[in-house]
Amino acid sequence: MSELVDRLGIAGLKPASDELIGPCPLCGGRDRFGINLRSNAFLCRKCNLRGGDQIALTRGVLNLGFKEALDWLCGERPAVVDVAELERRRKRAEEVRRKDRQAQDYYRRKAVSDARRIWSTARLGHLGVVPAYLEARGIDPFLLPEIPRALRFIVDHPYVKKVDGQFVTAHRGPCMIAGILNMAGELTAVHQTWVDVEPPHGKAKVTWQGESLPPKLVRGSKKSGAIRLHTPQGADILVMGEGIETTLAGLVAEPFANAAYWAGVDLGNMAGRMQRVKGKRYSGVPDMSDADAFVPPSWVKRLIFIMDGDSDPVMTRAKLECGLRRAMALRPGLKGQIVQAGRGLDLNDVLMGSG
Ligand SMILES: [Zn+2]
Repeated sequence: MSELVDRLGIAGLKPASDELIGPCPLCGGRDRFGINLRSNAFLCRKCNLRGGDQIALTRGVLNLGFKEALDWLCGERPAVVDVAELERRRKRAEEVRRKDRQAQDYYRRKAVSDARRIWSTARLGHLGVVPAYLEARGIDPFLLPEIPRALRFIVDHPYVKKVDGQFVTAHRGPCMIAGILNMAGELTAVHQTWVDVEPPHGKAKVTWQGESLPPKLVRGSKKSGAIRLHTPQGADILVMGEGIETTLAGLVAEPFANAAYWAGVDLGNMAGRMQRVKGKRYSGVPDMSDADAFVPPSWVKRLIFIMDGDSDPVMTRAKLECGLRRAMALRPGLKGQIVQAGRGLDLNDVLMGSG
């Protein structure tokens, strides 16, 4: 099947476990076409290109009948392929890709403007919910240099979720709003943590029709962004965990006087895209063509990633190494380090008395 993909000139498919995934050779579009290399089944989620073997794929892609497809595959006489039809398809695929890009652009701009609206209606963090929530998570607000300006709150904030194409409000209540800034320092997303109304004001329990939902949501475009919790003058060390709580747990421990503490929002953002290396599940080698990955500012001489213990340690370690290697490649002289709280733990667990 892989040989046939090359012979048919189907471009842009990427291996993903036992499959090849990528743009459809007929209608274009991103990641909507897949071929299962074990069963030989192939399917486009948009057009009706589908089937279960090499002959069917040849027929579908080249618009041939059964006999012509066999001729093309293994006959003495090559089948005549309708060049005009192929050109029409190429144009159609291009048009679909252009529309896809437009739609993605539109949704990204809308998400960013939503994030800015939420941020502008949120109130300064030191006034309400934020210190109570931090205290409930073991972070004594009095041990912080200040309540981070990156943290605000909204007293009655709706938790909106898309269910079957409709937006529903699954929950309302107090919410901590964290600003996510891109590399240029512009707010492009907010990280929202719904907080329990009842003391001790931990994470809210959010449920919708009996199903429990994560009490944290990001709105906007978090690519290359970070929650800049603390950035003292003259800092040259950047300590970064995934979450607000783990990163602040590092800050209250105060290991350095001249360190900044930023939350990286999620592991994927800290790592950026990783190169595929044959025979390795996680290479830990950055794909330097990823323009959306987090890169530390130029003042960072030492970048310390805090490793959480709640996911597969091999995968987590590889992703953190990937992010550090990217940073070291782009910022010559930068030293990258990983700090691990302990097996199965994050720094906030340690602060809360585990391990
Ligand atoms: Zn298709």
